[in-house]
Amino acid sequence: MNPAWDEYRRRRRAFHMALLWALLWILPGSLIRRFLVINGVHDRLAFYLGVGLPMVGWIAVFHIRRMLWRCPRCGRPFHASWLYGNPFSSHCVHCGLPLWTPGPEGGQGSSLNIDDL
Ligand SMILES: [Zn+2]
Repeated sequence: MNPAWDEYRRRRRAFHMALLWALLWILPGSLIRRFLVINGVHDRLAFYLGVGLPMVGWIAVFHIRRMLWRCPRCGRPFHASWLYGNPFSSHCVHCGLPLWTPGPEGGQGSSLNIDDL
């Protein structure tokens, strides 16, 4: 397979795993919250910081990594520009390259520069 698409596949899979882990994190987080309430601790801020913030952080980090993946053809972020972003886009938002295009257009990705957005 093309290395650029392999990298995209890894980033997409990591994002989906972050979603799964966030959902799985809710159960122990809820049990911790229940335990604290039973013992008279009603500190919601600590709960949100200890349970909610890591969950949102995981999702945000992996979402941003996926959004900033470079298009193999034009080298710009595949799913985002400065004013527009579509994580469900099946074509590059800059050059229109369809996802999973085989062949030499598939090129190779490289590191992202903030000026490329
Ligand atoms: Zn492109």
